[in-house]
Amino acid sequence: MPELPEVETVCRQLEPELAGRRIERLEVLDERWSRPVAPAELEAAVGGRAIEGLGRRGKYLLLALDGGRTLVMHLRMTGNLVLVEGGAKLDPSEGRRLYEGERSTSERHLRARFALDDGRELWFTDPRRFGEAFLVDDAELKARFKRLGVEPLSGEFTPEALGEIAAGRTVPLKSFLLDQSGVAGVGNIYADEALFRARLHPLSPAGSMRFEHHEALRDAVVAALEAGIEGGGASIDDYRDGHGEKGTMQDEFLVHTREGEPCPRCGGAIARIAVAGRSTYYCPSCQVRLPRRRPARRSA
Ligand SMILES: [Zn+2]
Repeated sequence: MPELPEVETVCRQLEPELAGRRIERLEVLDERWSRPVAPAELEAAVGGRAIEGLGRRGKYLLLALDGGRTLVMHLRMTGNLVLVEGGAKLDPSEGRRLYEGERSTSERHLRARFALDDGRELWFTDPRRFGEAFLVDDAELKARFKRLGVEPLSGEFTPEALGEIAAGRTVPLKSFLLDQSGVAGVGNIYADEALFRARLHPLSPAGSMRFEHHEALRDAVVAALEAGIEGGGASIDDYRDGHGEKGTMQDEFLVHTREGEPCPRCGGAIARIAVAGRSTYYCPSCQVRLPRRRPARRSA
């Protein structure tokens, strides 16, 4: 599932390609993508619009259009936004040339297609069909995202801010990081990687962190996300970048998907447990499980 680094990678790649272009036509091939708005209604609202830019908020992609509206897209489980050059001669999700008349994998999973004024197309492909899009007036954008938490790569994400979000929370740190209303954009991969970097056990109650932990976790979240962006995102399953290429972050994971392999820090075996129904990878030797209660300093 694409997380902040994957969405950010797509955004950075496509922004310079899309800004200033005009959408000649939007074709919505799956009514689930625009639901509850009818495909024809969204097509009419977006077709003919100029693209002012492409941005990101949490895991959302924001396609700013002229006329003061933004098309918000979420990739969810298996969505990809790919710029397709030269029609469907190349399969953007496979990176290989096609036989004459062959339908590409991406074409079979195509949910929406933007025809641009330079002849290129922007494809939203999505095998599992959980991806979505909706149009928002720019004046309402802030309100639309008011329940979304702090942007972890912004200056607002300080140890103090993290402490405020975590205060009094009894949920495990892994669940805490997955909750988009606290810190936006972190998902299953980067939560594991961040907790490893911070030496914090995923089952530690979020509210049990002390200031030193807030500092460590804040730095670790930023470092894990930046590593993901540096690696062009992680392609464990369906994720492809804005040009249809795989990322390389999956080769750089410290603990995620590394069950049984040696911990890069202490050499102990990486373990896997389920937290909130999600596979969670960590090092039992060097990730500290904080006590359930707040720091009471009962032990001598
Ligand atoms: Zn270790």
